[in-house]
Amino acid sequence: MSPIAANLQAVRERIRIAAHGAADSVKLVAVSKTHPPGAVRAAYDAGQRAFGENYVQEAVAKMPALADLAIEWHFIGPIQSNKAKLIALHFAWAHGVDRLKVAEALSRNRNPAGPPLNVCLQVNVSGEASKSGANPADAPGLARAISALANIRLRGLMTIIENVPDAGSQRAQFRALRELGERIAASGIALDTLSMGMTQDFEAAIAEGATLVRIGTAIFGQRENKVVES
Ligand SMILES: *Cc1c(COP(=O)(O)O)cnc(C)c1O
Repeated sequence: MSPIAANLQAVRERIRIAAHGAADSVKLVAVSKTHPPGAVRAAYDAGQRAFGENYVQEAVAKMPALADLAIEWHFIGPIQSNKAKLIALHFAWAHGVDRLKVAEALSRNRNPAGPPLNVCLQVNVSGEASKSGANPADAPGLARAISALANIRLRGLMTIIENVPDAGSQRAQFRALRELGERIAASGIALDTLSMGMTQDFEAAIAEGATLVRIGTAIFGQRENKVVES
């Protein structure tokens, strides 16, 4: 078994335990940013189908070498309007939508003849100035406006929490996102996704109801080089 296949198996097992056996309710997105196409292929050969990238140019450069695979691509990085076209063209999901302007650009650039682009509204629950994401107070109004757009489908909320080591503080932040999602759903907007949890906190996220976890390091190993986008 390849190291990536072994890591994937270990991550799936941890998800199963965290979900108390209900692992089918948690989708695993393998975050392959900075890793070469060969690493994606190794994970694919081990049964993984959903992959996450957060640098547009890097992802689009990687895709041709993997065109023979039935990959579901997730864009998980922050979205600038000038990248919306490439994202709308090449991805099935976009998780980092935090402004109406970006959602409109994705909608405008998505082919109406194909499936809608699945999107998550990114919310900054920790309130850290360095984090992207909408203010929680603005999220209900944004969700309503985004859900009215053509060619994209609002699936739920996404967050990246403050980097804290203890599970209690992690859970409090994930709980805040879940409760926000419940309030938005109660207002009549159908949501089925809570995109939350990464290598160091995914068990806490699952305990608070994550339906989608985005995991890179635990599958592919440490990232050595950070790609900088122009
Ligand atoms: C890089 C990244 C991940 C994965 O992080 P790991 O700590 O490697 O699991 C998840 N979500 C987003 C938005 C990321 O940028």
